[in-house]
Amino acid sequence: MSKPKVLIIYTGGTIGMIRDEKKGTLKPFRLERVVKSIPSILELGIEIHAIELEEIIDSSNITLKVWIELAGIIEKYYKKFDGFVILHGSDTMAYSASALSFLLENLGKPVIFTGSQLPIGLPRTDARENLITALSIAAMRNENGQSLIPEVCIYFEDQLYRGNRTYKFNSENFDAFVSRNYPILAEAGVRIRIFEERLLTQSNEDFIVHTAMNPNVAVLKLFPGITLKSFPKLFLDSGIQAVILETYGSGNGPTCDNFLSAVEEMIYNDIIIINITQCQEGKVEMGKYETSEKLLKLGVIGGADLTFESAITKAMFVLGLTDNLNERRQMLKKPLRGEMTL
Ligand code: ASP
Repeated sequence: MSKPKVLIIYTGGTIGMIRDEKKGTLKPFRLERVVKSIPSILELGIEIHAIELEEIIDSSNITLKVWIELAGIIEKYYKKFDGFVILHGSDTMAYSASALSFLLENLGKPVIFTGSQLPIGLPRTDARENLITALSIAAMRNENGQSLIPEVCIYFEDQLYRGNRTYKFNSENFDAFVSRNYPILAEAGVRIRIFEERLLTQSNEDFIVHTAMNPNVAVLKLFPGITLKSFPKLFLDSGIQAVILETYGSGNGPTCDNFLSAVEEMIYNDIIIINITQCQEGKVEMGKYETSEKLLKLGVIGGADLTFESAITKAMFVLGLTDNLNERRQMLKKPLRGEMTL
């Protein structure tokens, strides 16, 4: 078999940052520096090519436009490469990985996001291991020469996660990501162990790249004492079409008229409401308690165990895909890319 080919797409993030001596802050630097800092990547037995976005960013500046640009790059190079590694800041990596998972339908090759908590040039950096192992995983093929992992993933600190199940939970540790409702897809120790039974199955359908996302999504996080009266008007006036409602426990909210009539007013005006939990583990089960049964009756959609990042990007994707309210609701109720377990 010929050498596997992997494309690195560099977007920015701490991994490639250097210190601005005047201001003392970290700012993004160019890709050559990243690759030069790890000469051993040339010994991996992988044909590596690299491109970078025109504007290298701290991931706090990520936009929907960049997600669509990344999807377009993968479409352009899809046939030529066995896998893709996206170097990205960790702050919004879980949003980007979730967004890409929806934009890339019937993906048959690995798209692995990685980055680091310390810049690549520092002696104690975590970037070297993250990049080398992400490249090794992206290059893996089965005995038929087919790419092994048909998913958008995040690789960080020895673990490979399904991207749309992950969130950043720690801003200081190298171990910065967690996937509480779905097990890891692979673990890197002395050898890299892939848990094949946890992966999405290869689709026989053609690979489709979607190029539209609709940003008219808002979030409403419940807290005791919240006054909701003004929300429906606020959302309607600003053109919001879907609201992620962060409820308590297994999807519960107050049963007072003030709250329920605000929800009713939004739904009556065709705003879709998706119920996710404020808990970091577990899922929304609407109808389990009286406090969620009312929401179900009003037409709130249960988001099961969606992460916040996944709920936001799935809503943006579905709103971008169709204007039909019923189609939108049906798509939001079911898993599209392994992002939720009903
Ligand atoms: N602020 C950085 C970013 O997300 C942090 C990181 O890369 O880890 O771009």
